[in-house]
Amino acid sequence: MSAAENCLKAARRTGTDIMHDLPAARFTTYRGGGRVKCAFAPTDAERAAEFFSECVATGGEAPFVLGGGSKTVIADGEVSRPVLYTGRMRAVRCVGVREDGRVLVRAEGGARVSDILAVCADRGCGGAEFMCGVPATAGGMVRMNAGAFGEETADIVEEAEVSDPLTGESRRIRGEDIGFAYRRGAEGFVTAVTFAFIPMSAEESAARRESFLAYRRAHQPSKPSCGSMFKRSVLPAWALIEDAGLKGVRLGGAEISRLHANFVVNTGGGSAADLTGLAEFVGMRVRELFGIALEKEFKILADDLPF
Ligand SMILES: Cc1cc2nc3c(=O)[nH]c(=O)nc-3n(C[C@H](O)[C@H](O)[C@H](O)COP(=O)(O)OP(=O)(O)OC[C@H]3O[C@@H](n4cnc5c(N)ncnc54)[C@H](O)[C@@H]3O)c2cc1C
Repeated sequence: MSAAENCLKAARRTGTDIMHDLPAARFTTYRGGGRVKCAFAPTDAERAAEFFSECVATGGEAPFVLGGGSKTVIADGEVSRPVLYTGRMRAVRCVGVREDGRVLVRAEGGARVSDILAVCADRGCGGAEFMCGVPATAGGMVRMNAGAFGEETADIVEEAEVSDPLTGESRRIRGEDIGFAYRRGAEGFVTAVTFAFIPMSAEESAARRESFLAYRRAHQPSKPSCGSMFKRSVLPAWALIEDAGLKGVRLGGAEISRLHANFVVNTGGGSAADLTGLAEFVGMRVRELFGIALEKEFKILADDLPF
């Protein structure tokens, strides 16, 4: 049985919604590329874990997990690989207060940063402002250990509920046991996350959000992108790309941002091949000029991509 047939069966057994024809323009922030033929969209974390487990337990391949699409580029054409879309599992609620006063907030894997910050404002806590303005999800942040302004997701995770892509088993992993490293987080499907937020007034949280947003507006492009193209190396990737004189270089509709050299923006009609081609060219030039190998940060959602 193919992976897609296997997931279809699991969807029927677990009552998981099926979506058809998801275009990159709507489901990713780069907005260029192809479309996903079929995606499975559980409506809560428990159903998601059950569906994922069924897909894997019957000998099938784990579906690719798509969250906010702010680090994912959908390959050109039609992608037939089964995809689990987390956009319908977005519940966020306060679940208690730790002895040291930190406020525990449980967010389902598909909850957006804005959903989380809204609950924080209500409960008088904060700590996720560094991602304000980015349409990332809780699950995507924990998988990528997203970070900015000297803060990172690892700092605020109490525990994550993670399903294993090989066995389908779901377990709770404490933040310190996740093995967070630079832009590396949980190795599995994150169905929910409990954050431990710092007590903070709504005014302080709003001031932090404003200052981070102002910095992003001044230093990052507003055109569609998938954030940074490459991970930090011995030197920041943007500095190496800038020193290589590559700002403004274009391939088709993709362009290396003139504002931030580590961002590739879609100037209109940019394809996935434009972005990956440009990234390859940049990587090659930086290696030639400085002897440094850059590691790409974005993910390509394609038929041959493993979980
Ligand atoms: C304008 C802009 C600014 C950005 N700024 C930053 C920044 O400051 N710092 C930073 O670190 N990143 C930044 N990013 C990148 C991005 O927001 C992060 O990498 C974020 O963590 C991705 O979350 P997502 O839900 O959009 O993930 P997606 O793009 O949907 O997926 C990214 C990867 O995570 C996996 N994934 C998604 N959801 C789950 C889940 N529930 N369980 C397991 N795996 C999952 C996917 O399979 C894929 O491998 C920026 C992006 C943009 C567009």
